[in-house]
Amino acid sequence: MEEKFITIKEVALINNCPECYNTNGLQLTFLQKFVETKFYKSITKETSHQLECNTCNTSIYPVRWTEDIERVFNYHQKAFTPKKASFKLKKSAWLLIISVLIFIVVLLGIAILPNL
Ligand SMILES: [Zn+2]
Repeated sequence: MEEKFITIKEVALINNCPECYNTNGLQLTFLQKFVETKFYKSITKETSHQLECNTCNTSIYPVRWTEDIERVFNYHQKAFTPKKASFKLKKSAWLLIISVLIFIVVLLGIAILPNL
């Protein structure tokens, strides 16, 4: 099973970076969790976000956020619409389901036919 967070939205913030105090490096990224297995693909409801500074290449964790960053973050989080959760069976899953159905039909046939 493969789980990954895919970037849905990126926003450049003009706030001061709490690490290097630069105003043009902060980037807020909204992510959403996708799950993929051999049999299905799914977009989950689970979302995540991260704040990074491209100037000093640091991840800015919420403990380091200033009030201004929090305010801007809340604003963008409200404006952020995640993708609709979805669940799709892959071809291999359908093949498996169909073969199981055929198998059941054949078994029923073997069980019923001699009694006819
Ligand atoms: Zn920085």
